[in-house]
Order: sequence, then C-alpha cells, then structure tokens
Amino acid sequence: MAGEPQADCLFCKIASGKVPATVVRETDTTVAFQDINPQAPTHVLVVPKAHYPDAASLAAAEPQIAADVLCAAEEVAAMTGIKETGFRIVFNTGAGAGQTVFHAHAHVLGGRSLNWPPG
Ligand code: C5P
Repeated sequence: MAGEPQADCLFCKIASGKVPATVVRETDTTVAFQDINPQAPTHVLVVPKAHYPDAASLAAAEPQIAADVLCAAEEVAAMTGIKETGFRIVFNTGAGAGQTVFHAHAHVLGGRSLNWPPG
C-alpha cells in the first residue's frame, strides 16, 4: 500500500529506529537526522515516516506530509542557527539529479557559502 514502510529501505529503517542515526528532531510524521557524509557544517536530512520514493510522489500522494517535511526543515534550520545566515533545502529527485536513496528526503544545508547554480 502507498506510504507503507519498505523492508529494504534504509530511510524506513532509520525512521523506525532499526538502523541507528543521529536524530535531531522527530514529529508524528517526520524524522530529521545528521547526514552521515556532510556537505556543509550543517547537513541534516528530513524524511517522512511514510515511504514514498521521492519528494514529487510524496507531494502528489500526501501533500500535508510534504508540508510537514518543509516545516521540519525550517525548524531544523532554526535549531541549528542557520536560519539567520541562510540555508538551502534540496530534494534530489531522480538518479539523474543525484538521488541515491529512494525514500523522499530533504537535505537542509548551511553554515558556509552555498554556490549557485549547484553542481
Ligand atoms: O539525495 P541523495 O539520495 O543522494 O541523498 C542521500 C543522502 O543520504 C546522502 O547525503 C548520504 O550521505 C546520506 N546517507 C546517510 N546515512 C546513510 C546513508 C546515506 O545520511 N546511512
């Protein structure tokens, strides 16, 4: 069924606590944790607890949970001090855009200058 946890999904396992991660924030519908390979001084991932392969399919099926992910990203930015200095929320969507884990997730990045356009 759409949104159900997938046994072979790493971020489903992190969201349920079966795989350890450094969790910084949790809500009824989202979990935020430190990226294991940070690309900036602050690099936190926000995932929905529901499984959807990418942000676009999440937004189409569960717009409220997609909004929850965005709100959680803003709260992570506030908690980590990057809200004042500027931050970026990135949803890599599709392998061609660099997505490697096919469970929707927001990268919350900040703490250094961020170039535009991104690579
Ligand atoms: O957007 P993309 O799918 O490439 O992002 C996946 C992210 O998940 C990467 O930034 C990677 O460092 C992170 N990751 C993690 N913990 C893992 C495996 C991957 O934080 N155990």
